[in-house]
Amino acid sequence: MIIDSHVHLFFEGSDPEEFFMGCARTASALFGRETGEYSDPVELYKYFLGILSDRTGDKLVASMNEAGVDKAILLPLDFWLKYPKASGACLTMEEKNRIYAEATERYPNRLLSLFGIDPRRRDALRLFEKGIEEWGMKGLKIHPTAGFYPDDPICYPIYERAQEYGVPVLIHSGNEPTPMAVKYSQPKYIDTVAADFPELKIIIAHMGHGWWREAVDIATMKPNIHLDFSGWQPLYTSNPDYLWYPLRMAIDLIGPWRVLFGTDGSMLNALMPLKDWVNAVKTHKSLTGIEFSPKEIEIIMSKAAAKLYSIHP
Ligand SMILES: [Zn+2]
Repeated sequence: MIIDSHVHLFFEGSDPEEFFMGCARTASALFGRETGEYSDPVELYKYFLGILSDRTGDKLVASMNEAGVDKAILLPLDFWLKYPKASGACLTMEEKNRIYAEATERYPNRLLSLFGIDPRRRDALRLFEKGIEEWGMKGLKIHPTAGFYPDDPICYPIYERAQEYGVPVLIHSGNEPTPMAVKYSQPKYIDTVAADFPELKIIIAHMGHGWWREAVDIATMKPNIHLDFSGWQPLYTSNPDYLWYPLRMAIDLIGPWRVLFGTDGSMLNALMPLKDWVNAVKTHKSLTGIEFSPKEIEIIMSKAAAKLYSIHP
């Protein structure tokens, strides 16, 4: 069994246009990094939205079938408070989370979803309870780059409830395109949450990207922290060992059971197809002799997430 621990669904109106444009600018810079010639971000934005748009999860499940991925954890994003002018014209977070819940109902054996909400919303706690109790969602996803620190006391009631439910909280950490601000997503602010809620299961998304040493270091002391290495495809394609070295250090220091395979799809699957990413991690070819045992690979790609989310094959 392979579990992708970090996936988003994008579709028309799912997220602010400014967010998609920021992603397009980053992609343009990435694609043009060798030649210095950059494609028009507006054209890229239109192209990617066309191929990524997936409201039902159909495209996602097709790519999972092709890659041999059995299950995926969906994470609704809530960036709207960053864009107060745009928020009125778009989906409410209740509607957006409902769309995610419907995807899990459509594919009950393949898709699970966390509930995604900005904890600064006045109805965040009530909606989170509804997501867990009525829609069968499996945890909470928050994205601090929208403008809050994860250890802001405003977040604490929803953490308390997640701890009571015994469900994980996944917190974005590390870089993020314009106009989101990465200062809010440094792992040290997640450390405070782990310290104040020692029974709460917390996932530091993307292993903190460039803050991976800080994330690994914090997880070493806080056993309630997991790390997912989704979104590392651009580093891997630059040099595989940019991924294998941090991953090796993470597993050496905290063990494989708190390290989770993920993609940050569907956006990142446009940069590297899911089947290639799965194959890269399975075969883990290193230029400098960094190794992983078959047992470690099995745990990080499957058993660790299965244990965390109580998934039975
Ligand atoms: Zn993500």
